[in-house]
This record gives sequence, structure tokens and C-alpha cells, in this order.
Amino acid sequence: MITGRGRPVYQGVAIGRIYVHTKNQAVSDRKCSDIAKELERFQRAKEKATEELSALYEKTAAEIGEEQAAIIEVQSLLLEDLDYIEGIEAMIKSGSDAAFSVHEIGDAQASVFASLDDDYMKARATDIRDISDRLVRILTGADQGFRMDEPGIIVAEDLTPSETVSLDKDKILAFVTRQGSSNSHTAILARVMNIPSLVLTDIDIDPTLNGRTMIVDGFAGSYYIDPDDNTMATMLEKQKKAGEYKAGLETYRGKESITKSGRKVKLFANIGSPSDIKYVIDGDAEGIGLLRSEFLYLGRDSFPTEDELFGAYREVLEAMNGKKVVIRTLDIGADKKVDYFGLAPEENPALGYRGIRICLTEREIFRTQLRAIYRASAYGNAAIMFPMIISVKEVQEIKAFCRGIEEELHSEGKQTGAVELGIMIETPAAAVISDLLAPEVDFFSVGTNDLTQYTLAIDRQNEKLDAFYDAHHPAIMRLLEMIAANAHKAGIWAGICGELAGDLSLTDEFLKMGYDELSVAPSRVLELRKNVINSEV
Ligand code: PEP
Ligand code: MG
Repeated sequence: MITGRGRPVYQGVAIGRIYVHTKNQAVSDRKCSDIAKELERFQRAKEKATEELSALYEKTAAEIGEEQAAIIEVQSLLLEDLDYIEGIEAMIKSGSDAAFSVHEIGDAQASVFASLDDDYMKARATDIRDISDRLVRILTGADQGFRMDEPGIIVAEDLTPSETVSLDKDKILAFVTRQGSSNSHTAILARVMNIPSLVLTDIDIDPTLNGRTMIVDGFAGSYYIDPDDNTMATMLEKQKKAGEYKAGLETYRGKESITKSGRKVKLFANIGSPSDIKYVIDGDAEGIGLLRSEFLYLGRDSFPTEDELFGAYREVLEAMNGKKVVIRTLDIGADKKVDYFGLAPEENPALGYRGIRICLTEREIFRTQLRAIYRASAYGNAAIMFPMIISVKEVQEIKAFCRGIEEELHSEGKQTGAVELGIMIETPAAAVISDLLAPEVDFFSVGTNDLTQYTLAIDRQNEKLDAFYDAHHPAIMRLLEMIAANAHKAGIWAGICGELAGDLSLTDEFLKMGYDELSVAPSRVLELRKNVINSEV
């Protein structure tokens, strides 16, 4: 039996067989024996990449616009760039295999571009990496990706949000990663999916783990590989007890979330996509306080169309049957990378071109999403929330843009519902000027994950800083108090949708501050309701 430890991100016990998840595009320095054949293979990969890009160009131009499609055109041109192509061919002629040659030459040329001062040139580095990744994928036949035949436990070095969303959620019993952090988006997803998971483990990842039995104890933060009979029996008992505790919470299903002194609070859920609705229903949430809409953009090769987005939002709104659904607009950037956005690498991505900054700059992307949300608003109780706000001017610009979209849809004869517009308070700037922002909007929702990161100057992704990441820091508590007070002064409602909302040791505190809504992972709702109902506040 092998045992080890990690940091738990969701409590529970999972037992199943291991699936080792390795990155798709690991290429090693392999030699080729038949150079002519390898050159021919490279030629065919180039043709396939050209075909893929031209299909992507057509789709993007039709659905998003010529401007975005131009990014794809640049990549097609790279496939004819002599420096790039001849560099790769020369390396193949010297005996390296095609995938390794593409990877090496692509990397070398991208590094040169990335080091240049000019922003346009820097952006070319991403194009070279993108096109090289495409060629490597074609050459290595990695298109098939990672598959699970039956439910199991995923063991990986780390998983990006895009990788996580590409997995078959119904088959995942647990995640165990060597890297990651408890505040990363992958950890957040694990909580939405109710699966016991460990990050920052000491596990040695190697393919021989595939198929072996593993137990993940998300209470103690431990794992066991090839467990002995004793351990298996103890863990089965623990799993049974966890099931019983969960069953005990069923008495709170369908109850009103109201304290002993009669204070009411709404308990909403955070989700990433329509497929998470089942967790919301199962968790008995009273609405959706945060639909992280960027997840609809992850794990794919091109922009979703307006109709695709409309379909997804409509599905969520209809399933919630009149209950409020707060859709947060695209918050791409920082750890949520999407290749087809063509975002250049940044020194400080968390402080960089992300969230509302992208939407206010690349208006077509914003417009497509807002049109889809407004169209879907005719089918339920939709609210829109904007991330990463720092100024009143941004909010006014956004409101004017939204009005334009509504008018445009009405002039096309399309129906829209009454939509509340709110903002996330997740930057210290927004918190400090919350008195000025409140009169501009219908609600606030505090994103404590980013608010903590930016207030304490602690990267939420950096596991080395987990010990310093104190979400109960007095600075955060003071900001939270101020935000709720300023919201109420202006007569609007205030909620919390960051992970802190589910911290049961703070429920009384939040109720005293006057928060009207707490939005948490769906699986946390019943336990939180138990806390509210038993509260003296
Ligand atoms: C937050 O920052 O607290 C938040 C809810 O947004 P995200 O975690 O998606 O950045
Ligand atoms: Mg945030």
C-alpha cells in the first residue's frame, strides 16, 4: 500500500481506479529513420492544419467578425513563413522527428518574438505557439485526448480549467494533483461537482498507476494506493458516515433560510455551465448567484456562437423556473486561458488584460455574449453581473452598451425580460468606492477570492502562499462590512459569491453585516441553511 497526503478541497471519501492524466502534447527528442517519409508527414500535417484554420476562419468571420478572424489568418500565413517552415525542415533533415522539430523551432521563434518590445510582435509569439501546438497535435495524433471508460480517480500533475471542463464529469470520482491550490478554479470546480479532491500532493505520477485502486480521503487530506483490507474497511465506514451526515441535512431541504430572530437570507449556488444544473437542484439552492460564463468558452477551439450561448443560458433559466440566475459576463484571463482569444503572454496576468477589460476592448465578443443573455432573459429571471470593476466610468459605459443591445434586439423584433444589472466587488478599488458605485447598479456581489488576492497582495494561484492567504484578515472583514453598508444606503441588495460565503464560521458575521444573499457551491447550500436556521442573529 502506498500512502500520501495533500491539501483537501472537498470533503468526502472516494474509492476507485486510477486514471493518470498526462498533457496531450509531451514531445520528446525522437530520431526518425526515414527522413523523406518524415518530411512527407510534415507536409501532410501542414495541409491538415491549413484546412482546419480555413474552416475556423470561415466560422469566426461569420459568427464573430472579420477582426477576430484576422488572428486566424495570421496563423495561416505562418504556415507559409519560410523562416519557420525551413527551420523545421532543416531539423527533420538532420534526423529529428517532425513533432519534435516543430516543437523546438516553434519554441525558439516564439521566445524571440516574446522578448521584443513591440506589443504587436509579442502577440506573434502566441500565434507561433498556437500553430506549433496544432501541428504537434496533428503529428502525434493527440486529437483523441484523454478518455475514461468507467468512473475513476484522476491523477495529474495539474489540470488547467480548460482541461477540467473537457473531462467527462459523470465519470470523475476524485481529482488528485501534485500542483494546484485550494483557491484555483479547478478546486472550485471540484467543489461544484461534489468530488473529494486533493491538491499539492506528494504523489509520484507514473503510468504504472493506471488501473490501480485508490482511496481519497478528502476529510483528512490523505490518499491510499493499493489499500490493504484494514484501510479499505475503515474508509468504507468513513464513506458511509459521510453519506449519513449528508442524509441528515435532508431535513433542511425546501425550508426557508431564516434565522431564529426572523432574518431572511437567500442561499444561491455558483455554477459554470448548464450541465451543473443537476447539482443546483440536488443541492436545493434558491437561485444561481454566479454563473461563471467563461466556462462556456473553455475547452474548445473557437468562439461559441450567439445561438450556442443563447441556448445554454436559456437552458439554465428555464431549468431554474423563475428563480434568479445571475450570469457573470466572461472573466477570461489570469489562470483561465483560451488559445483562440490570441491573448499575448503577460508578466502579471492577474493584474492584466482580463475580465471586463477584454470585453470593453473587444466589443464584438462582449456584444455576442450580451445579445445571447438578453435574448435568453425572455425565458426566466436573469440578472447580469460584471467582473473586475474598478471605476464608475466603466459601469456607465457598460450600462450604455447594454441599453444599445436591448434596443438593437427590440428593433429586430426579439423579446427580452427585465434584467437586473450588478457588479462584482472584487477589487479593493471597487470596495473603497462602493458608495459611488451603488447608485449606478441594482446589486453588488462580493468576489472574496479576488478581493482577498488583491487586498493582501497574495496570488491566489501560488500554493507557496496558501499559509499567508488569510481570508479572515481584518482588512477583508472591514471591506465586507463597508460594501454591504454602502449597498443598503443606496437601496440595493448585496451578496457574496466568493468561496468565503460558504465559510460556516462566518455565517453569523455576514448576517450581522446585513448580506442579503450568499452564493456557494451547490453542495454547501443545505449545510449553510442549517447554520442560518440555527443562528441567533
Ligand atoms: C471571486 O473572485 O471571488 C469570484 C467569485 O470570482 P472567480 O473566483 O471566478 O474569480
Ligand atoms: Mg474573481
